[in-house]
Amino acid sequence: MIAFLSLLARNRLALAGGIVLSAVVLLALVTPLLPLADPDVTNTSNRFVPPFSEGALLGTDHLGRDLLSRLLWGTRLSLAVGFAAAIVAATIGAAIGIIAGYYGGRTDNVIMRGVDMLMAFPYILLALAIVAALGPGLFNALIAVAAVNVPFFARNIRGITVGIAHKEFVDAARLAGLSNTRIILSEILPNVIPVIVIAMSTTIGWMILETAGLSFLGLGSQPPQADLGSMLGEARSALITNPHTSVVPGIMILVIVMSINLLGDGVRDALDPRLKSGALSRPMAATQVKRAGPVPAPTGKGLLEVQALETQFHVKDRIYRAVGGVDLHVEKGECLGIIGESGSGKSVTALSIMGLVSSPPGVITGGAAHYDGEDLIGAPYRRLRDMRGRNVSYIFQDPLATLHPLYRVGDQLIEAIRAHRPIGKEAGRAKAVELLDAVRIPNAAKRITDYPHEMSGGMRQRVGIAMALANDPDIIIADEPTTALDVTVQAQVLTILDDLRRSRGLAIIFITHDFGVVAQLCDRVAVMYAGRIVEEGRTTDILDTPRHPYTARLMACVPELGGGKRRLEAIAGLPPVVDRLPQGCAFADRCLKVQDDCRQGDIPLVRSGARAVRCLYPEEKAREAAE
Ligand code: ADP
Ligand code: MG
Repeated sequence: MIAFLSLLARNRLALAGGIVLSAVVLLALVTPLLPLADPDVTNTSNRFVPPFSEGALLGTDHLGRDLLSRLLWGTRLSLAVGFAAAIVAATIGAAIGIIAGYYGGRTDNVIMRGVDMLMAFPYILLALAIVAALGPGLFNALIAVAAVNVPFFARNIRGITVGIAHKEFVDAARLAGLSNTRIILSEILPNVIPVIVIAMSTTIGWMILETAGLSFLGLGSQPPQADLGSMLGEARSALITNPHTSVVPGIMILVIVMSINLLGDGVRDALDPRLKSGALSRPMAATQVKRAGPVPAPTGKGLLEVQALETQFHVKDRIYRAVGGVDLHVEKGECLGIIGESGSGKSVTALSIMGLVSSPPGVITGGAAHYDGEDLIGAPYRRLRDMRGRNVSYIFQDPLATLHPLYRVGDQLIEAIRAHRPIGKEAGRAKAVELLDAVRIPNAAKRITDYPHEMSGGMRQRVGIAMALANDPDIIIADEPTTALDVTVQAQVLTILDDLRRSRGLAIIFITHDFGVVAQLCDRVAVMYAGRIVEEGRTTDILDTPRHPYTARLMACVPELGGGKRRLEAIAGLPPVVDRLPQGCAFADRCLKVQDDCRQGDIPLVRSGARAVRCLYPEEKAREAAE
């Protein structure tokens, strides 16, 4: 709530709207306590007294009634009716929308066609018809205004509900045996309330205007009772001779509606969760680079050499150090594994290389990534765009999310090729078939006309790989590409990657949290924890003799087939939050062998030969002993 208010207050216009509206509401609330003249007492000898006169600050109207008093009482009434109409319309409309959206099918059809019929009438005509049927009066005007706004809420909320009603968490609630009412109240409603609030905040102003309109026509508040609309209506005949009688209520209506609209826009922006971390700006084309220190010179190691890479997320005044100085390199034809718990910074490391971390909030604050002698960090966007997919390409975890649902997979493959070189229709088709063949999709010529939803998860991931291969890259960065697949399909996908690496000399950076996959595919492996590499070495060495306690514990978590039943050693505790990294070793709090000096100063990554470990007291013995 505090966060919401502070976000709202950052929007100057919304803040101004909020302050003005609060002042008006406050005035309306205290009106009965103020020493005002009776708003309804006429005094015809005192007609049309101009503003700022003795005893009548805003003057009097055609019956000699005090305008200030009528204005405040009228504002009170107009606000009350406007808010009441908004709440009634929102409640009824949302209920209708939720029921139609949740139950769907015939219920939805019947309800929504009814709503459509209401919407087919011109708005104000419908309101007039309702008042005509019910008879004039403020309460009936309220009913009319609420009624004509119900369809707006019903349509809006139904759309949102349909989207939510098919989400997995609703299915889960159903499987848990919750009744429909419970599901609507506990699963659906909390998700649509922000939308209701937004719709309300942007329509209250409109409803106050409509109520004023009905009163202006004499169908709302009845004399002598004042509301802003009826004050305007009565002043109409004196518009030219005594304009102050119209100007006073007119300005009040303007002030109220403006402030509500400004505040409403602010509320809408502040409630949108997407705007919370990324501020209001559009993401930049490439990650922002603000390197403080010197740029490391390339040492010529490997095809891609990442040095001292630091990537942070700057969210308001917090700094999340997602990647805190990572060194990596990968040779042609080599597979480097990056392993670590979720949240350890693997993806951010990989995305930083090609400037794909979204900015804001992402900022690369240090280091270099030399590809063939060229520093990719800070390379101009045009250069990066040219190299993305052509020199370095990515495979992501969820192929359903990366493939466009509305295009055939063949067309998507051709599009990936076209991004880098022009290719004719026939040649494109042939190339797409060839790519699908390369990732062993059976019957590729027929499969290229499939949509992503017509394929199984394993098939889709193969298409993902084919797409990454489309422009014959030198390096493929695979970010947990098999996590969503079952083990047989995973084995097939890994075999495909391994073959491609051997036949095409691809360098692969393979991100995973699974030691089994590392053992199967990777030549070398780097273990990441809290944004830094804690151990690195040849896969066989690390699997035989893990030296960092974290690696050892991570491996002890892997069940072994045929290893008999044993207790799986889960690692107690959670990784540190990266905006409050502890002094010294980030793993200290979860380490069984922690000593006092582990918590002091920076622990360096000590290299000896191909091995490197960031630990003051590394494991000495073989893995069996560590268990
Ligand atoms: P993983 O190793 O699971 O791939 P990531 O690289 O995705 O982990 O994330 C590393 C850290 O960066 C996490 O602690 C995460 O909370 C943080 N992070 C990622 N994206 C953002 C963001 N947009 N804003 C703030 N923190 C983020
Ligand atoms: Mg990840």
